[in-house]
Amino acid sequence: MKLSIRWKVALGSLLAVTCGLAIAGLLAMQSLEQQEISQLNDILDARSNLVEYSLQPAFAAPPSPGQQTHLRDIVRQLGARALARVTVVAADGTVIADSAVDDAGLAAVENHLSRPEIQQALATGQGRDIRASQTTGSRTMYRAIRTELRDGGRPVILRLGLPMTMLEEETAKLQRHLAIAIGAAFLIALLLSLWMARSITKPLSDIADAARRLSAGDATIRIHTHSHDEVGLLGETLNHMTDQLRTKIDELSEDRAQLLAMLTSMVEGVMVLDCRGRILQVNPALERMFDVRRTEIRGQISTEVLAHPELNSLITTILANRAGQEAEITLTPGGRCLHIETSVAGCERENEACAVLVFHDITELRRLEKIRKDFVANVSHELRTPLTSIKGYVEALLDGGKDNPETAVNFLAIILKQSDRLNLILEDLLELSKIESGRVSFKEDPLDIRSLIERTLSMIKPLADKKGHRLISNIDGQIPPIAGDESRLAQVLTNLLDNAVKYTPEQGTITVTAKSLPDQTVELAVTDTGLGIPEQDRPRVFERFYRVDKARSREMGGTGLGLAIVKHIVEGHGGQVWVEAHPPQGSRFLVRLPITRQARSAAHTMDDKIQ
Ligand code: ADP
Repeated sequence: MKLSIRWKVALGSLLAVTCGLAIAGLLAMQSLEQQEISQLNDILDARSNLVEYSLQPAFAAPPSPGQQTHLRDIVRQLGARALARVTVVAADGTVIADSAVDDAGLAAVENHLSRPEIQQALATGQGRDIRASQTTGSRTMYRAIRTELRDGGRPVILRLGLPMTMLEEETAKLQRHLAIAIGAAFLIALLLSLWMARSITKPLSDIADAARRLSAGDATIRIHTHSHDEVGLLGETLNHMTDQLRTKIDELSEDRAQLLAMLTSMVEGVMVLDCRGRILQVNPALERMFDVRRTEIRGQISTEVLAHPELNSLITTILANRAGQEAEITLTPGGRCLHIETSVAGCERENEACAVLVFHDITELRRLEKIRKDFVANVSHELRTPLTSIKGYVEALLDGGKDNPETAVNFLAIILKQSDRLNLILEDLLELSKIESGRVSFKEDPLDIRSLIERTLSMIKPLADKKGHRLISNIDGQIPPIAGDESRLAQVLTNLLDNAVKYTPEQGTITVTAKSLPDQTVELAVTDTGLGIPEQDRPRVFERFYRVDKARSREMGGTGLGLAIVKHIVEGHGGQVWVEAHPPQGSRFLVRLPITRQARSAAHTMDDKIQ
C-alpha cells in the first residue's frame, strides 16, 4: 500500500501518542491498584489485630465443646462487624471456626494447611495472600496471624479474609475513566497530528506538484512557500532551478531556430550523419536535390536511402577514415552536377553528429564554364578565318600578285571585305560585352512602336528590294507607347529584319506585326517565308556564335552575334524574345516588351471605369 507523506506523518505521530497514552494508562492503573491494595492491607492488618485482641479471651478458655461453640459465635459476630471473613484454623489445618460457614458445614470445609498464608503464618508468625476463595468464590485478600495459646497448647491461626469486590469495582471505575480520558486524548492527538501533518506536507506536496508540472514542460511555474525552514529552502532552490532551466531552454530554442533558419535558407544541401552513416538532419535544399522527404529519411542509413554509387563510396570512405574529403557527382536522372564538401568530427556514439556533407549545385557553373570555353574557341575561330584569308591574300600579293594590277585590285577588295568582317565581329563583340557587363543603361523613353517599325523598314528596304522581297507591316490601331531605348530597340528590329532578309530566298515575304496584349505588353513579330530553323536549334540560336548552318551564315556576312545582342537588349528592357516555326515555310521571331508606366496606369483607370 502506498501512503502519502501526510498519512505517514499523521499515523506515525498518532501511533506514538497512542503508545504513550497506553503505557501511561497501564502504569497509572498499576500504581492505583497497588495503592488500593496497600490501603486494604492496612485495613486488614488493623482489623485482624482487633479481631485477635477480641478473641484472646475465647482462646484463653480451656478447650471444651462449650468453648468451641462460644468461639464460633464470637467469630461470626466479629466477622459481621469487621465486614470480613474470620477463620480460626488449628495448627494441623483443621478449620475450627469460620464466620462464613455455619456449624453444620464446618466439617465439610477443606483442610486449610496448604493455604499459602497459613503456611507463612505457621513459619513466620504471619502470612498474606490474595486469591479467589474456594469457599466463597470471590477474590479475597487474606491475612493470617499465629496465636500462641497461653497454657502452652498448640498455636492456632487466626485468618481474616477481606473480599476485594470493592477494590475491583473501584478499579473498573478507574479503568472506565482512564479509557474515556485516553479516548479524548486520542481524538485530540488525531486532530492535532492531522493538522500538523497537513502543515508540514502541504508545502511539500505543492513542491511535488510544481516539479511534476515542470517536468511536463511548464517552465513558467513558481513555488510560493512562506516557511523559512528546509521546505522553504527547497522551494527557493527549485524556483532558481526553474529560472535557470527557462533561460537555458530559451537560449536553446533561439539557437535551434537560428540554426533551422540558416539551414532552411541555404541554397546548399546539408546532410548530417552519425558514425554509422544514419541520417540525423537534412535541409530543404537537400530534399529538393535528391527528391526525398526529411521525415521519411531521418534515422535511415544514408547509403540505402540515397543509393548513388559515387556518393555511397564517398560516405563509406569518410566514415572509415574519419577524414573529410571533396568530390563531384552527377545525379541521374536530371544530370545535375553536385560538388560535395565533407567534414568529419571524431564522435563515436550513435545518434550524434559525426559527418557533415555540404552539396553545392554547380550545374550552372559548369554550364557557364562550357559557354566560356566554347566562346573562346568560337572567337578564335571567327577571328582566325578572316585573318587567315587576309594573310593569304597579302602573301599572294607579295609573291607577285601586286605585279598584275587586275589581280592586285581583286585581292585588295577581298582583303578589305575580310577586314570589314573582322571589324564587324569586333564591334558586335564589344557591344555584347558592354551590354552584358551592365555598363549600358537603357533609357526608358515612351516610344511609338509604329514610327519605330516604319523607320526600320525604310532602312532595310534597299536590302530587301535587292532580293525582291515583299515587306509588309501590320500594326494595330491603338498601341500604347512602350518604355525603352529607341536606338537599341531599332537595333533589335534591324537585326531581326536583316536575318529575315538574309535567310529568305529571293522573292520572299517579310511581315512585321505589332499588337498590344492584355498583360500590358506589346508584341512585335517578324515573320519570313525563308529557310526556317529546325526545332532543336531554336532555343540555341540566341547563343553567341551559334549558327544553324555555319557556311551559309558566313557566306551571308553574319557574325553569329546578332540574335545574342537582340536577346540581351530585349531582356534588358524587361521583355522576352523567342522563335517559332512559321508553317509551311519560314520562321517567326517574337518580341514582347512592357508598355510605359503611365500607359499602364491609364489602362487601369479605363478598366475601372468600364467595371
Ligand atoms: P548571324 O550573324 O549568323 O546571322 P545571328 O545571331 O543573327 O547570327 O543568327 C544566328 C543563327 O540563326 C544564324 O546563323 C542562322 O542560322 C539562324 N537564323 C537567324 N535568323 C534566321 C531566320 N530568319 N531564318 C532562318 N535562320 C535564322
